[in-house]
Amino acid sequence: MQTSVIGFPRIGTLRELKFASEKYFRKEIEAAQLLETAKELRKVHWTTQKNSGADYISCNDFSHYDITLDTAVLLGIIPKRYKDLGLSELDTYFAMARGYQGDCGDVKALAMKKWYNTNYHYIVPELEDETTIKLSGSKLWDEYSEAKSLGIETKPVVIGAYTMLKLCRYTEKKTADDYLSDFINAYKALIEKCEEYQIEWIQFDEPSLVQDMDKDDIALFCKIYNNILPYAKKCKILLQTYFGDVRDIYAELINMPFAGIGLDFIEGKETCRLIEKYGFPQDKLLFAGLVNGKNIWRNNYDKTLQILDLLNKKGIKSVLSTSCSLLHVPYTLKHEKKLSDEYLAYFSFAEEKLAELNELKTLSECKDYHSEEIFKNNEKLFAENRNCENADVKNRLSLVTDSDYIRLPKRSERQKIQKEILALPKFPTTTIGSFPQTNDVKANRSAYRKGEISEKEYINFNKAKIAECVAWQEEIGLDVLVHGEYERNDMVEYFGESLGGFLFTEKAWVQSYGTRCVKPPVIWGDVYRKKPITVYWSVYAQSLTTKIMKGMLTGPVTILNWSFPREDISIRESISQIALAIRDEVLDLEKNGIRIIQIDEAALREKLPLRKSDWYNEYLSFAIPAFCLTHSGVKAQTQIHTHMCYSEFTDIIPSIDDMDADVITFEASRSDLQILDSLREHNFETEVGPGVYDIHSPRVPSVEEILNVLNIMLGKIDGDKLWINPDCGLKTRAMSETEASLKNLVKAAKQIRKQND
Ligand code: GLN
Ligand code: ZN
Repeated sequence: MQTSVIGFPRIGTLRELKFASEKYFRKEIEAAQLLETAKELRKVHWTTQKNSGADYISCNDFSHYDITLDTAVLLGIIPKRYKDLGLSELDTYFAMARGYQGDCGDVKALAMKKWYNTNYHYIVPELEDETTIKLSGSKLWDEYSEAKSLGIETKPVVIGAYTMLKLCRYTEKKTADDYLSDFINAYKALIEKCEEYQIEWIQFDEPSLVQDMDKDDIALFCKIYNNILPYAKKCKILLQTYFGDVRDIYAELINMPFAGIGLDFIEGKETCRLIEKYGFPQDKLLFAGLVNGKNIWRNNYDKTLQILDLLNKKGIKSVLSTSCSLLHVPYTLKHEKKLSDEYLAYFSFAEEKLAELNELKTLSECKDYHSEEIFKNNEKLFAENRNCENADVKNRLSLVTDSDYIRLPKRSERQKIQKEILALPKFPTTTIGSFPQTNDVKANRSAYRKGEISEKEYINFNKAKIAECVAWQEEIGLDVLVHGEYERNDMVEYFGESLGGFLFTEKAWVQSYGTRCVKPPVIWGDVYRKKPITVYWSVYAQSLTTKIMKGMLTGPVTILNWSFPREDISIRESISQIALAIRDEVLDLEKNGIRIIQIDEAALREKLPLRKSDWYNEYLSFAIPAFCLTHSGVKAQTQIHTHMCYSEFTDIIPSIDDMDADVITFEASRSDLQILDSLREHNFETEVGPGVYDIHSPRVPSVEEILNVLNIMLGKIDGDKLWINPDCGLKTRAMSETEASLKNLVKAAKQIRKQND
C-alpha cells in the first residue's frame, strides 16, 4: 500500500515564512531574499515528506499567501485595479491579498472568507466582465521542477475548476455560466502543459463537492470534467475531496475517467456507506483519507486498519491518505518542551502524521499486524484512561434546566431600559476590543513569561498601557470604551489559561490567513473556570473613566471552535461546559460594576456544517443555547454585546437573533454590506454595528468613505439601532494607522448625527 499527503503546512516549523514575508512588507528585505526563504522551506518540506516514506507528495501547495489566490493568478484572474498599479508580479499578488496604499495608488484588498469549515481564510477571486481567463504564470511548473531537481517526484495541486467557479465572485454583469468555457479551456491547457512536463499525477482539489449539490451542480461538474479529462493522456488525474462526503455526486464520480479519487473518511460520515452501496471501480485508486488532517490526536490504528482491510477485501486498490491538507495542524511536536510525555503521547502534528502514515503502511503489509509492537502501543493508548474527567463539572451540567437558557425580560423591554440608563448618544461609537499589540506590549508579556520581570512589573506595565488607551479614547471622543486587551496574547488562549481542562503548546502554530498564525489550545478534559479571568483589568479600566467601559470575553462556541476539540465526548457537551465557565465570568463582571459586556463569538459561523440539512441538528441546536447560557443570568440593564468576524451569516440570521444579545458588531466592509438587506428582511431585532472599515489592511479610511458607508447603512437599518465601529479588533494594526482611522470614524459619527438631527 502507498501513502499520500494532500498538502503540507507552508509557514515553516518556526514560522519562517511569516517572519520573512513581514520583513518584506516592511521593506527590510528584498524580494529575492523572501523568495530564497520560500525555496529553502519548500526543500525542507519535500525532503521531510520524502524521508518519512510518503509516496504521493504535493507541490504547489506552497503559497506566499493563499492557494486560492495562487490558482486565480494561474488562471489570469487579476482585477484591473490591481494590474493598473503597475507593480511587480509579486507585489501585485500581495496587493490583491493585503491591499495597497502607496506611490502607485490606493486599492483595498480582495475579500477574504473562511475556507469551508476551518479557521483558515482564503482570498476570494473576483471576475470582471473584461477578465480573460487564460493559463498564465508558471508557479506550478517551477515548483514541480524545483522538487524534481531535488530528486523528488511530486503531484502538483490546484483547486479544481468546479470549486474555483463556485468560489469566485462575479462583480459585473457576467455570471459563472459566461466563464465556463474559458475555465474549461484554461484547465485543458493546464493538463497539456503538465503532459509536456511529463508529470505523473495532478491533484485537483474539489472540496465544493462535499457541499449540497443539486442537479445543475452535478451537471456542471460532469460537463467540466468530461471536457478536460480527455486531455490527460499520460498524466493521471486525482480528484481530491475533503471536509465531508460526496453523497450527491458519488455515483457519477466513480464512472468518470479519473485515475484516482480522494475521499474523506474522517468528516465524511457517509463515505463508507457510499462505497458499500455503489462500490468502487477496480481501475481507479481510492485515496482513503483516514489520517485526520484537522485534529491533533493520534490515529487509532485499529480502526484505520479495519477500514483498510475492508477496502482490501472488496478488491479496492487504496492509497492511505490524510483526510485533508496538513495545513490545518501544527508542524511538529519536536518544539514542545513543556508538556509532559503523558500528554504528548496522545498528540500527532503534521510531522507525526507522516510517521503515522508510514507505520500504518508497514502494519498493513504485515501478515498479522495485531502482534506488532507499534500496533500494540497504539492500542494501549486508546485503551487507557486519559485522566480527563471531572465529576463536579458533569454534575453541574446535569442540573441546568430549560429556563437557564432564557434571559428575561425580553429584548424589546431590555432595550428601552438600557437606552435610558446607559444614556448613549445616537449612533454610539465603539471598538471591538483589542488595541495594537505593539512591540512593547509583546516584550512585556514575553519578559514576564520568561521570568525576567515580576508579576507586579508586568501588571503595572499593562495598567499604564490601559490608562494611556482609555485617556486616548476619551480624547478622540469614542462613546463606549475598551481597555485594549493588552494582557491577552490571543482571545482563546488567554481564557483557556484560566480554565481547567485546557492544555497549551509552545510552538504549535497553524496558519489562519496570510502571515497570521494561531496557536489553538487543546481541550484535554472537562472544562471549568478556575478563577476570575478579566474582572481585575475591566474594573481597573472602568475606574479611570466616567464613560462606560465594555467588558470583553470570548464566547463558548469560539473557544471550542478555535481549540483542538476532544474526540471522546461530543462537541455539544464540551461547548456546554465552557458556557458555564463563561457564565461565571459574566456574572462576576456585572457584580463588579461593568455595565456592558461583550461576549465575542468570532468563530460562530465557521463550524456551521457544510450541508444545510445538518445545520440545525448538528450545530445550531446547541451552539446558540450555549451562548444564551452565558448571559441569561444578567439584569435587564446590563447590555450584552457580541461580535462576529465575517458577516457571512445571511442564511442563519434568525439564529443570530436567537442568541438574544442586545447588540452585535460584525465584519461588513470587506463584503460589500450585502448582509444589510437580509437583516431588514428578517426584522433583525438585535442592535447592529456593521464594521465601517476593514482592519485586516493597513489602509486608513477617509471620513468621506466612512460617511458614505454609514449612509448606505442608514438606508437599510433603523437609525436607533445602528452602532459605529471598525470591522474587528485592532491588535494586528500599528498605532499610527489606528489613530488616524479611529479619528476619522469619530468625525464621521459626528457628521452623521448632525445630518440626522
Ligand atoms: N475582542 C477581540 C478583539 O478585539 C475580538 C477579536 C476577533 O473578533 N477576532 O481582538
Ligand atoms: Zn472579529
